[in-house]
Amino acid sequence: MTTSVMTNDTRAKEYINSVFEQLKQKNAHQPEFLQAAEEILFSLTPVVAQHPEYIEHNILSRIVEPDRIISFRVAWQDDNNQVQVNRGYRIQFNNVIGPYKGGLRFHPTVNESIMKFLAFEQIFKNALTGQPIGGGKGGSDFNPKGKSDAEIMRFCQAFMSELYRHIGPDVDVPAGDIGVGAREVGFMWGQYKRLRGAYEAGVLTGKKPGYGGSLARKEATGYGLVYFTAEMLREKGESFLNKTVVVSGSGNVAIYAIEKAQHYGAKVVACSDSAGYIYDPEGIDLAAVKEIKEVKGDRIHTYLNYRPNAEYHEGCTSIWTIPCDIALPCATQNEINSESARILVANGTKFVAEGANMPSDLEAINIYLENDIYFGPAKAANAGGVAVSALEMAQNSSRTAWSFNKVDEKLQDIMKSIYTESKEAAEKYGYAGNLVVGSNIAGFVKVADGMVAEGVY
Ligand code: GLU
Repeated sequence: MTTSVMTNDTRAKEYINSVFEQLKQKNAHQPEFLQAAEEILFSLTPVVAQHPEYIEHNILSRIVEPDRIISFRVAWQDDNNQVQVNRGYRIQFNNVIGPYKGGLRFHPTVNESIMKFLAFEQIFKNALTGQPIGGGKGGSDFNPKGKSDAEIMRFCQAFMSELYRHIGPDVDVPAGDIGVGAREVGFMWGQYKRLRGAYEAGVLTGKKPGYGGSLARKEATGYGLVYFTAEMLREKGESFLNKTVVVSGSGNVAIYAIEKAQHYGAKVVACSDSAGYIYDPEGIDLAAVKEIKEVKGDRIHTYLNYRPNAEYHEGCTSIWTIPCDIALPCATQNEINSESARILVANGTKFVAEGANMPSDLEAINIYLENDIYFGPAKAANAGGVAVSALEMAQNSSRTAWSFNKVDEKLQDIMKSIYTESKEAAEKYGYAGNLVVGSNIAGFVKVADGMVAEGVY
């Protein structure tokens, strides 16, 4: 018995190594994608060891290869009548559980590697929600910063003029991500409707309530992150009450994470944008942050106009030097490296939960795990956004609109069950307390079993 378990384990390790080696060769210039793949693949060893059918069906080599990568030109006219050209993407990674689902990111750093890492993560995150949604992602290297409303509209229309032929309520359902909110989704939705000549509301999520959007979608990622973190705290006999919290970012995820954490009695002392961070030891004035970011679209340093006693520091990484009990990175990928992770440990931080996608690099994650920081990885902790997107799709197909409370209650249930499933999967496979292993396995098994059932194609 022991020999056969050991053999299976060795076989699983060899298989995973060989899949990852091939992946590195084929995608040598895609560091973010390789990072996301490495994190997931190696954590699957115990489940692959117990399920030889995954090796027989070569599930891992198949799951790391997107169904298709769509890349296209987006030409649009700026306010000076100059023609600008950007690159658009949609990665349709896996649709075993449901139509491809995932946001669109508009940011100058967008490239194929970043799109693939996000789409790959999305497969497992979406599976974890328990909703019928596959994994995809898209976006453009377009920079929305400093653009007029009219320019944003023309860009979104040009982007959708190509994307529309690749998506549909039963095919692929985009939504927002960094640089894409309800305004951009609205412009894209209008163009899709015009081109299709039909009111297919379920083709995009994150629409405004009133024309097919769901109440509580805007709040969902941030609230969901705090619901998930509350479960982690409960596990350790703790709660948010009177805890000091640092939240990076000041976009949609950060704002609603701050709101819910404050609602639970935490003191949130810092948040940031891409230029720097504010530190307000008395606790962040969220109404001010909302006015700066949601109404004025301004930089976070203007917070000092509202709270002159707060501090502003240029640069983002040193936000992690602020002592806190709970760290909620909600800005972007790789914002916490080994150095910042060590500082969190030294400062006595006990909980890290990720609102952004892949904000901690691989070394940082290992440092949390080795130092008894209880860690909630992105694909579990930030799944609330896409989970409510799936609820928006459900409302769209049944032509109904649910109350805020109904959606919020469902969100709470979903976040609790993601936590429980991840925790139990970790225990089942011998990694109790490791939510990285647990969430990867819990998400993976659903997709892998679906792939086995579908057969090879
Ligand atoms: N961009 C979000 C995410 O990373 C939401 C995607 C969606 O709602 O489809 O999960």
